[in-house]
Amino acid sequence: GKPVCECNTCYEGPHCSQFLPDCAANADSGDPLFLEPFWMQHAESSALLVAGWHRMSYVFADQTSMSLELQKHILKVHSIARNAITKGKYLVFGVGSTQLLSAAVFALSLNSSSPARVVAASPYYPVYKTQTDFFETVHFEFQGDALLMKNTSDYVRNVIEFVTSPNNPDGNLRKAVLQGLSVNAIYDHAYYWPHFSAIPAPADEDIMIFTISKLTGHAGSRFGWALVKDKDVYLNMQNYISLADISISRDTQLRALQLLKAVLKGDGREIFHFAYEKMRDRWEKISQTISLSKRFTIQDIPPQYCNFFEKVRGPSPAYIWLKCEREEDTNCKAVLLSANIIGRSGSLFNAEDRYVRLSLLKSDDDYNSLLYRLKELISKEGRAD
Ligand code: PMP
Repeated sequence: GKPVCECNTCYEGPHCSQFLPDCAANADSGDPLFLEPFWMQHAESSALLVAGWHRMSYVFADQTSMSLELQKHILKVHSIARNAITKGKYLVFGVGSTQLLSAAVFALSLNSSSPARVVAASPYYPVYKTQTDFFETVHFEFQGDALLMKNTSDYVRNVIEFVTSPNNPDGNLRKAVLQGLSVNAIYDHAYYWPHFSAIPAPADEDIMIFTISKLTGHAGSRFGWALVKDKDVYLNMQNYISLADISISRDTQLRALQLLKAVLKGDGREIFHFAYEKMRDRWEKISQTISLSKRFTIQDIPPQYCNFFEKVRGPSPAYIWLKCEREEDTNCKAVLLSANIIGRSGSLFNAEDRYVRLSLLKSDDDYNSLLYRLKELISKEGRAD
């Protein structure tokens, strides 16, 4: 029969079909449940059964702890998505990409005589700061906005720049802001899939980090990988994983492998078509709605040639980066909240609170509630004046 899911907070009843008119649309988190229907269509090929005696031993973090089959499948997914050059790069597995962000900072700063300054261009994903602050050592510290550092000549010393491309929160493709011999970039490519962006060319950076959270939607399995060019950086990252965790859970690796096997069935392109079409449709409906407003605007993402679709394609970002344009609306999150929409404040991304991030990644129900509430809010605009 049809799988039974938990109802979203805006629905109730045995089939979650009864809409609750007073509930809030929660567009806060980046939980990628938009892919749940894809996995319901592939319930059988993605299912996994593991016998109790299977793979009980410890393995230590080196090549032998990383499933060779899984490595092959990861390389295959990249070759189909045409989003990364994997040749000549080492693979490191991590507990989500979150762990690899930290491992990369440690690996790049281990031998530096003065503390490396870690930066990112605003608006940026908050974890770069919170994690770097929390794990601060004599080898590194969080410095703030890469754009501010660019305007000084201060970056001759050791700098690590996080580059998120496409960016969370605004979906734009990015390149490192800082250049120079003493600058190392960590490319966070969590969203560099045809789901969320045009792929102008396969990425070929020295450190690139990916995650199944945003590729297949399995954020709860905690599995990510890094493609690393330099052997010493790669060994330092493996050493970090080994000290922090001994190695990455073999159960997680089995699950990731089963999911990628299902993804690669047939020509392996189905998930990209499914995800792109859904995200594009969500973006188009939301941007049409916002275009009727004088009070709100959203980010502009230009159409670009895509190496996967082999044509120019429009935007399909993971998040809306919404701006309150009225002078008095300095707290945009509060403005939305009064219309029953829950978003994330701009200040969390080191931007003004005139901005709010709204997630487009959640379940169909969450997205439908968001669209409904936005339409309701904007239709009242004229009348309130
Ligand atoms: N990088 C970016 C830019 C993200 O948005 C996220 C998740 N929201 C992550 C990394 C972390 O993902 P995970 O640890 O689930 O792989």
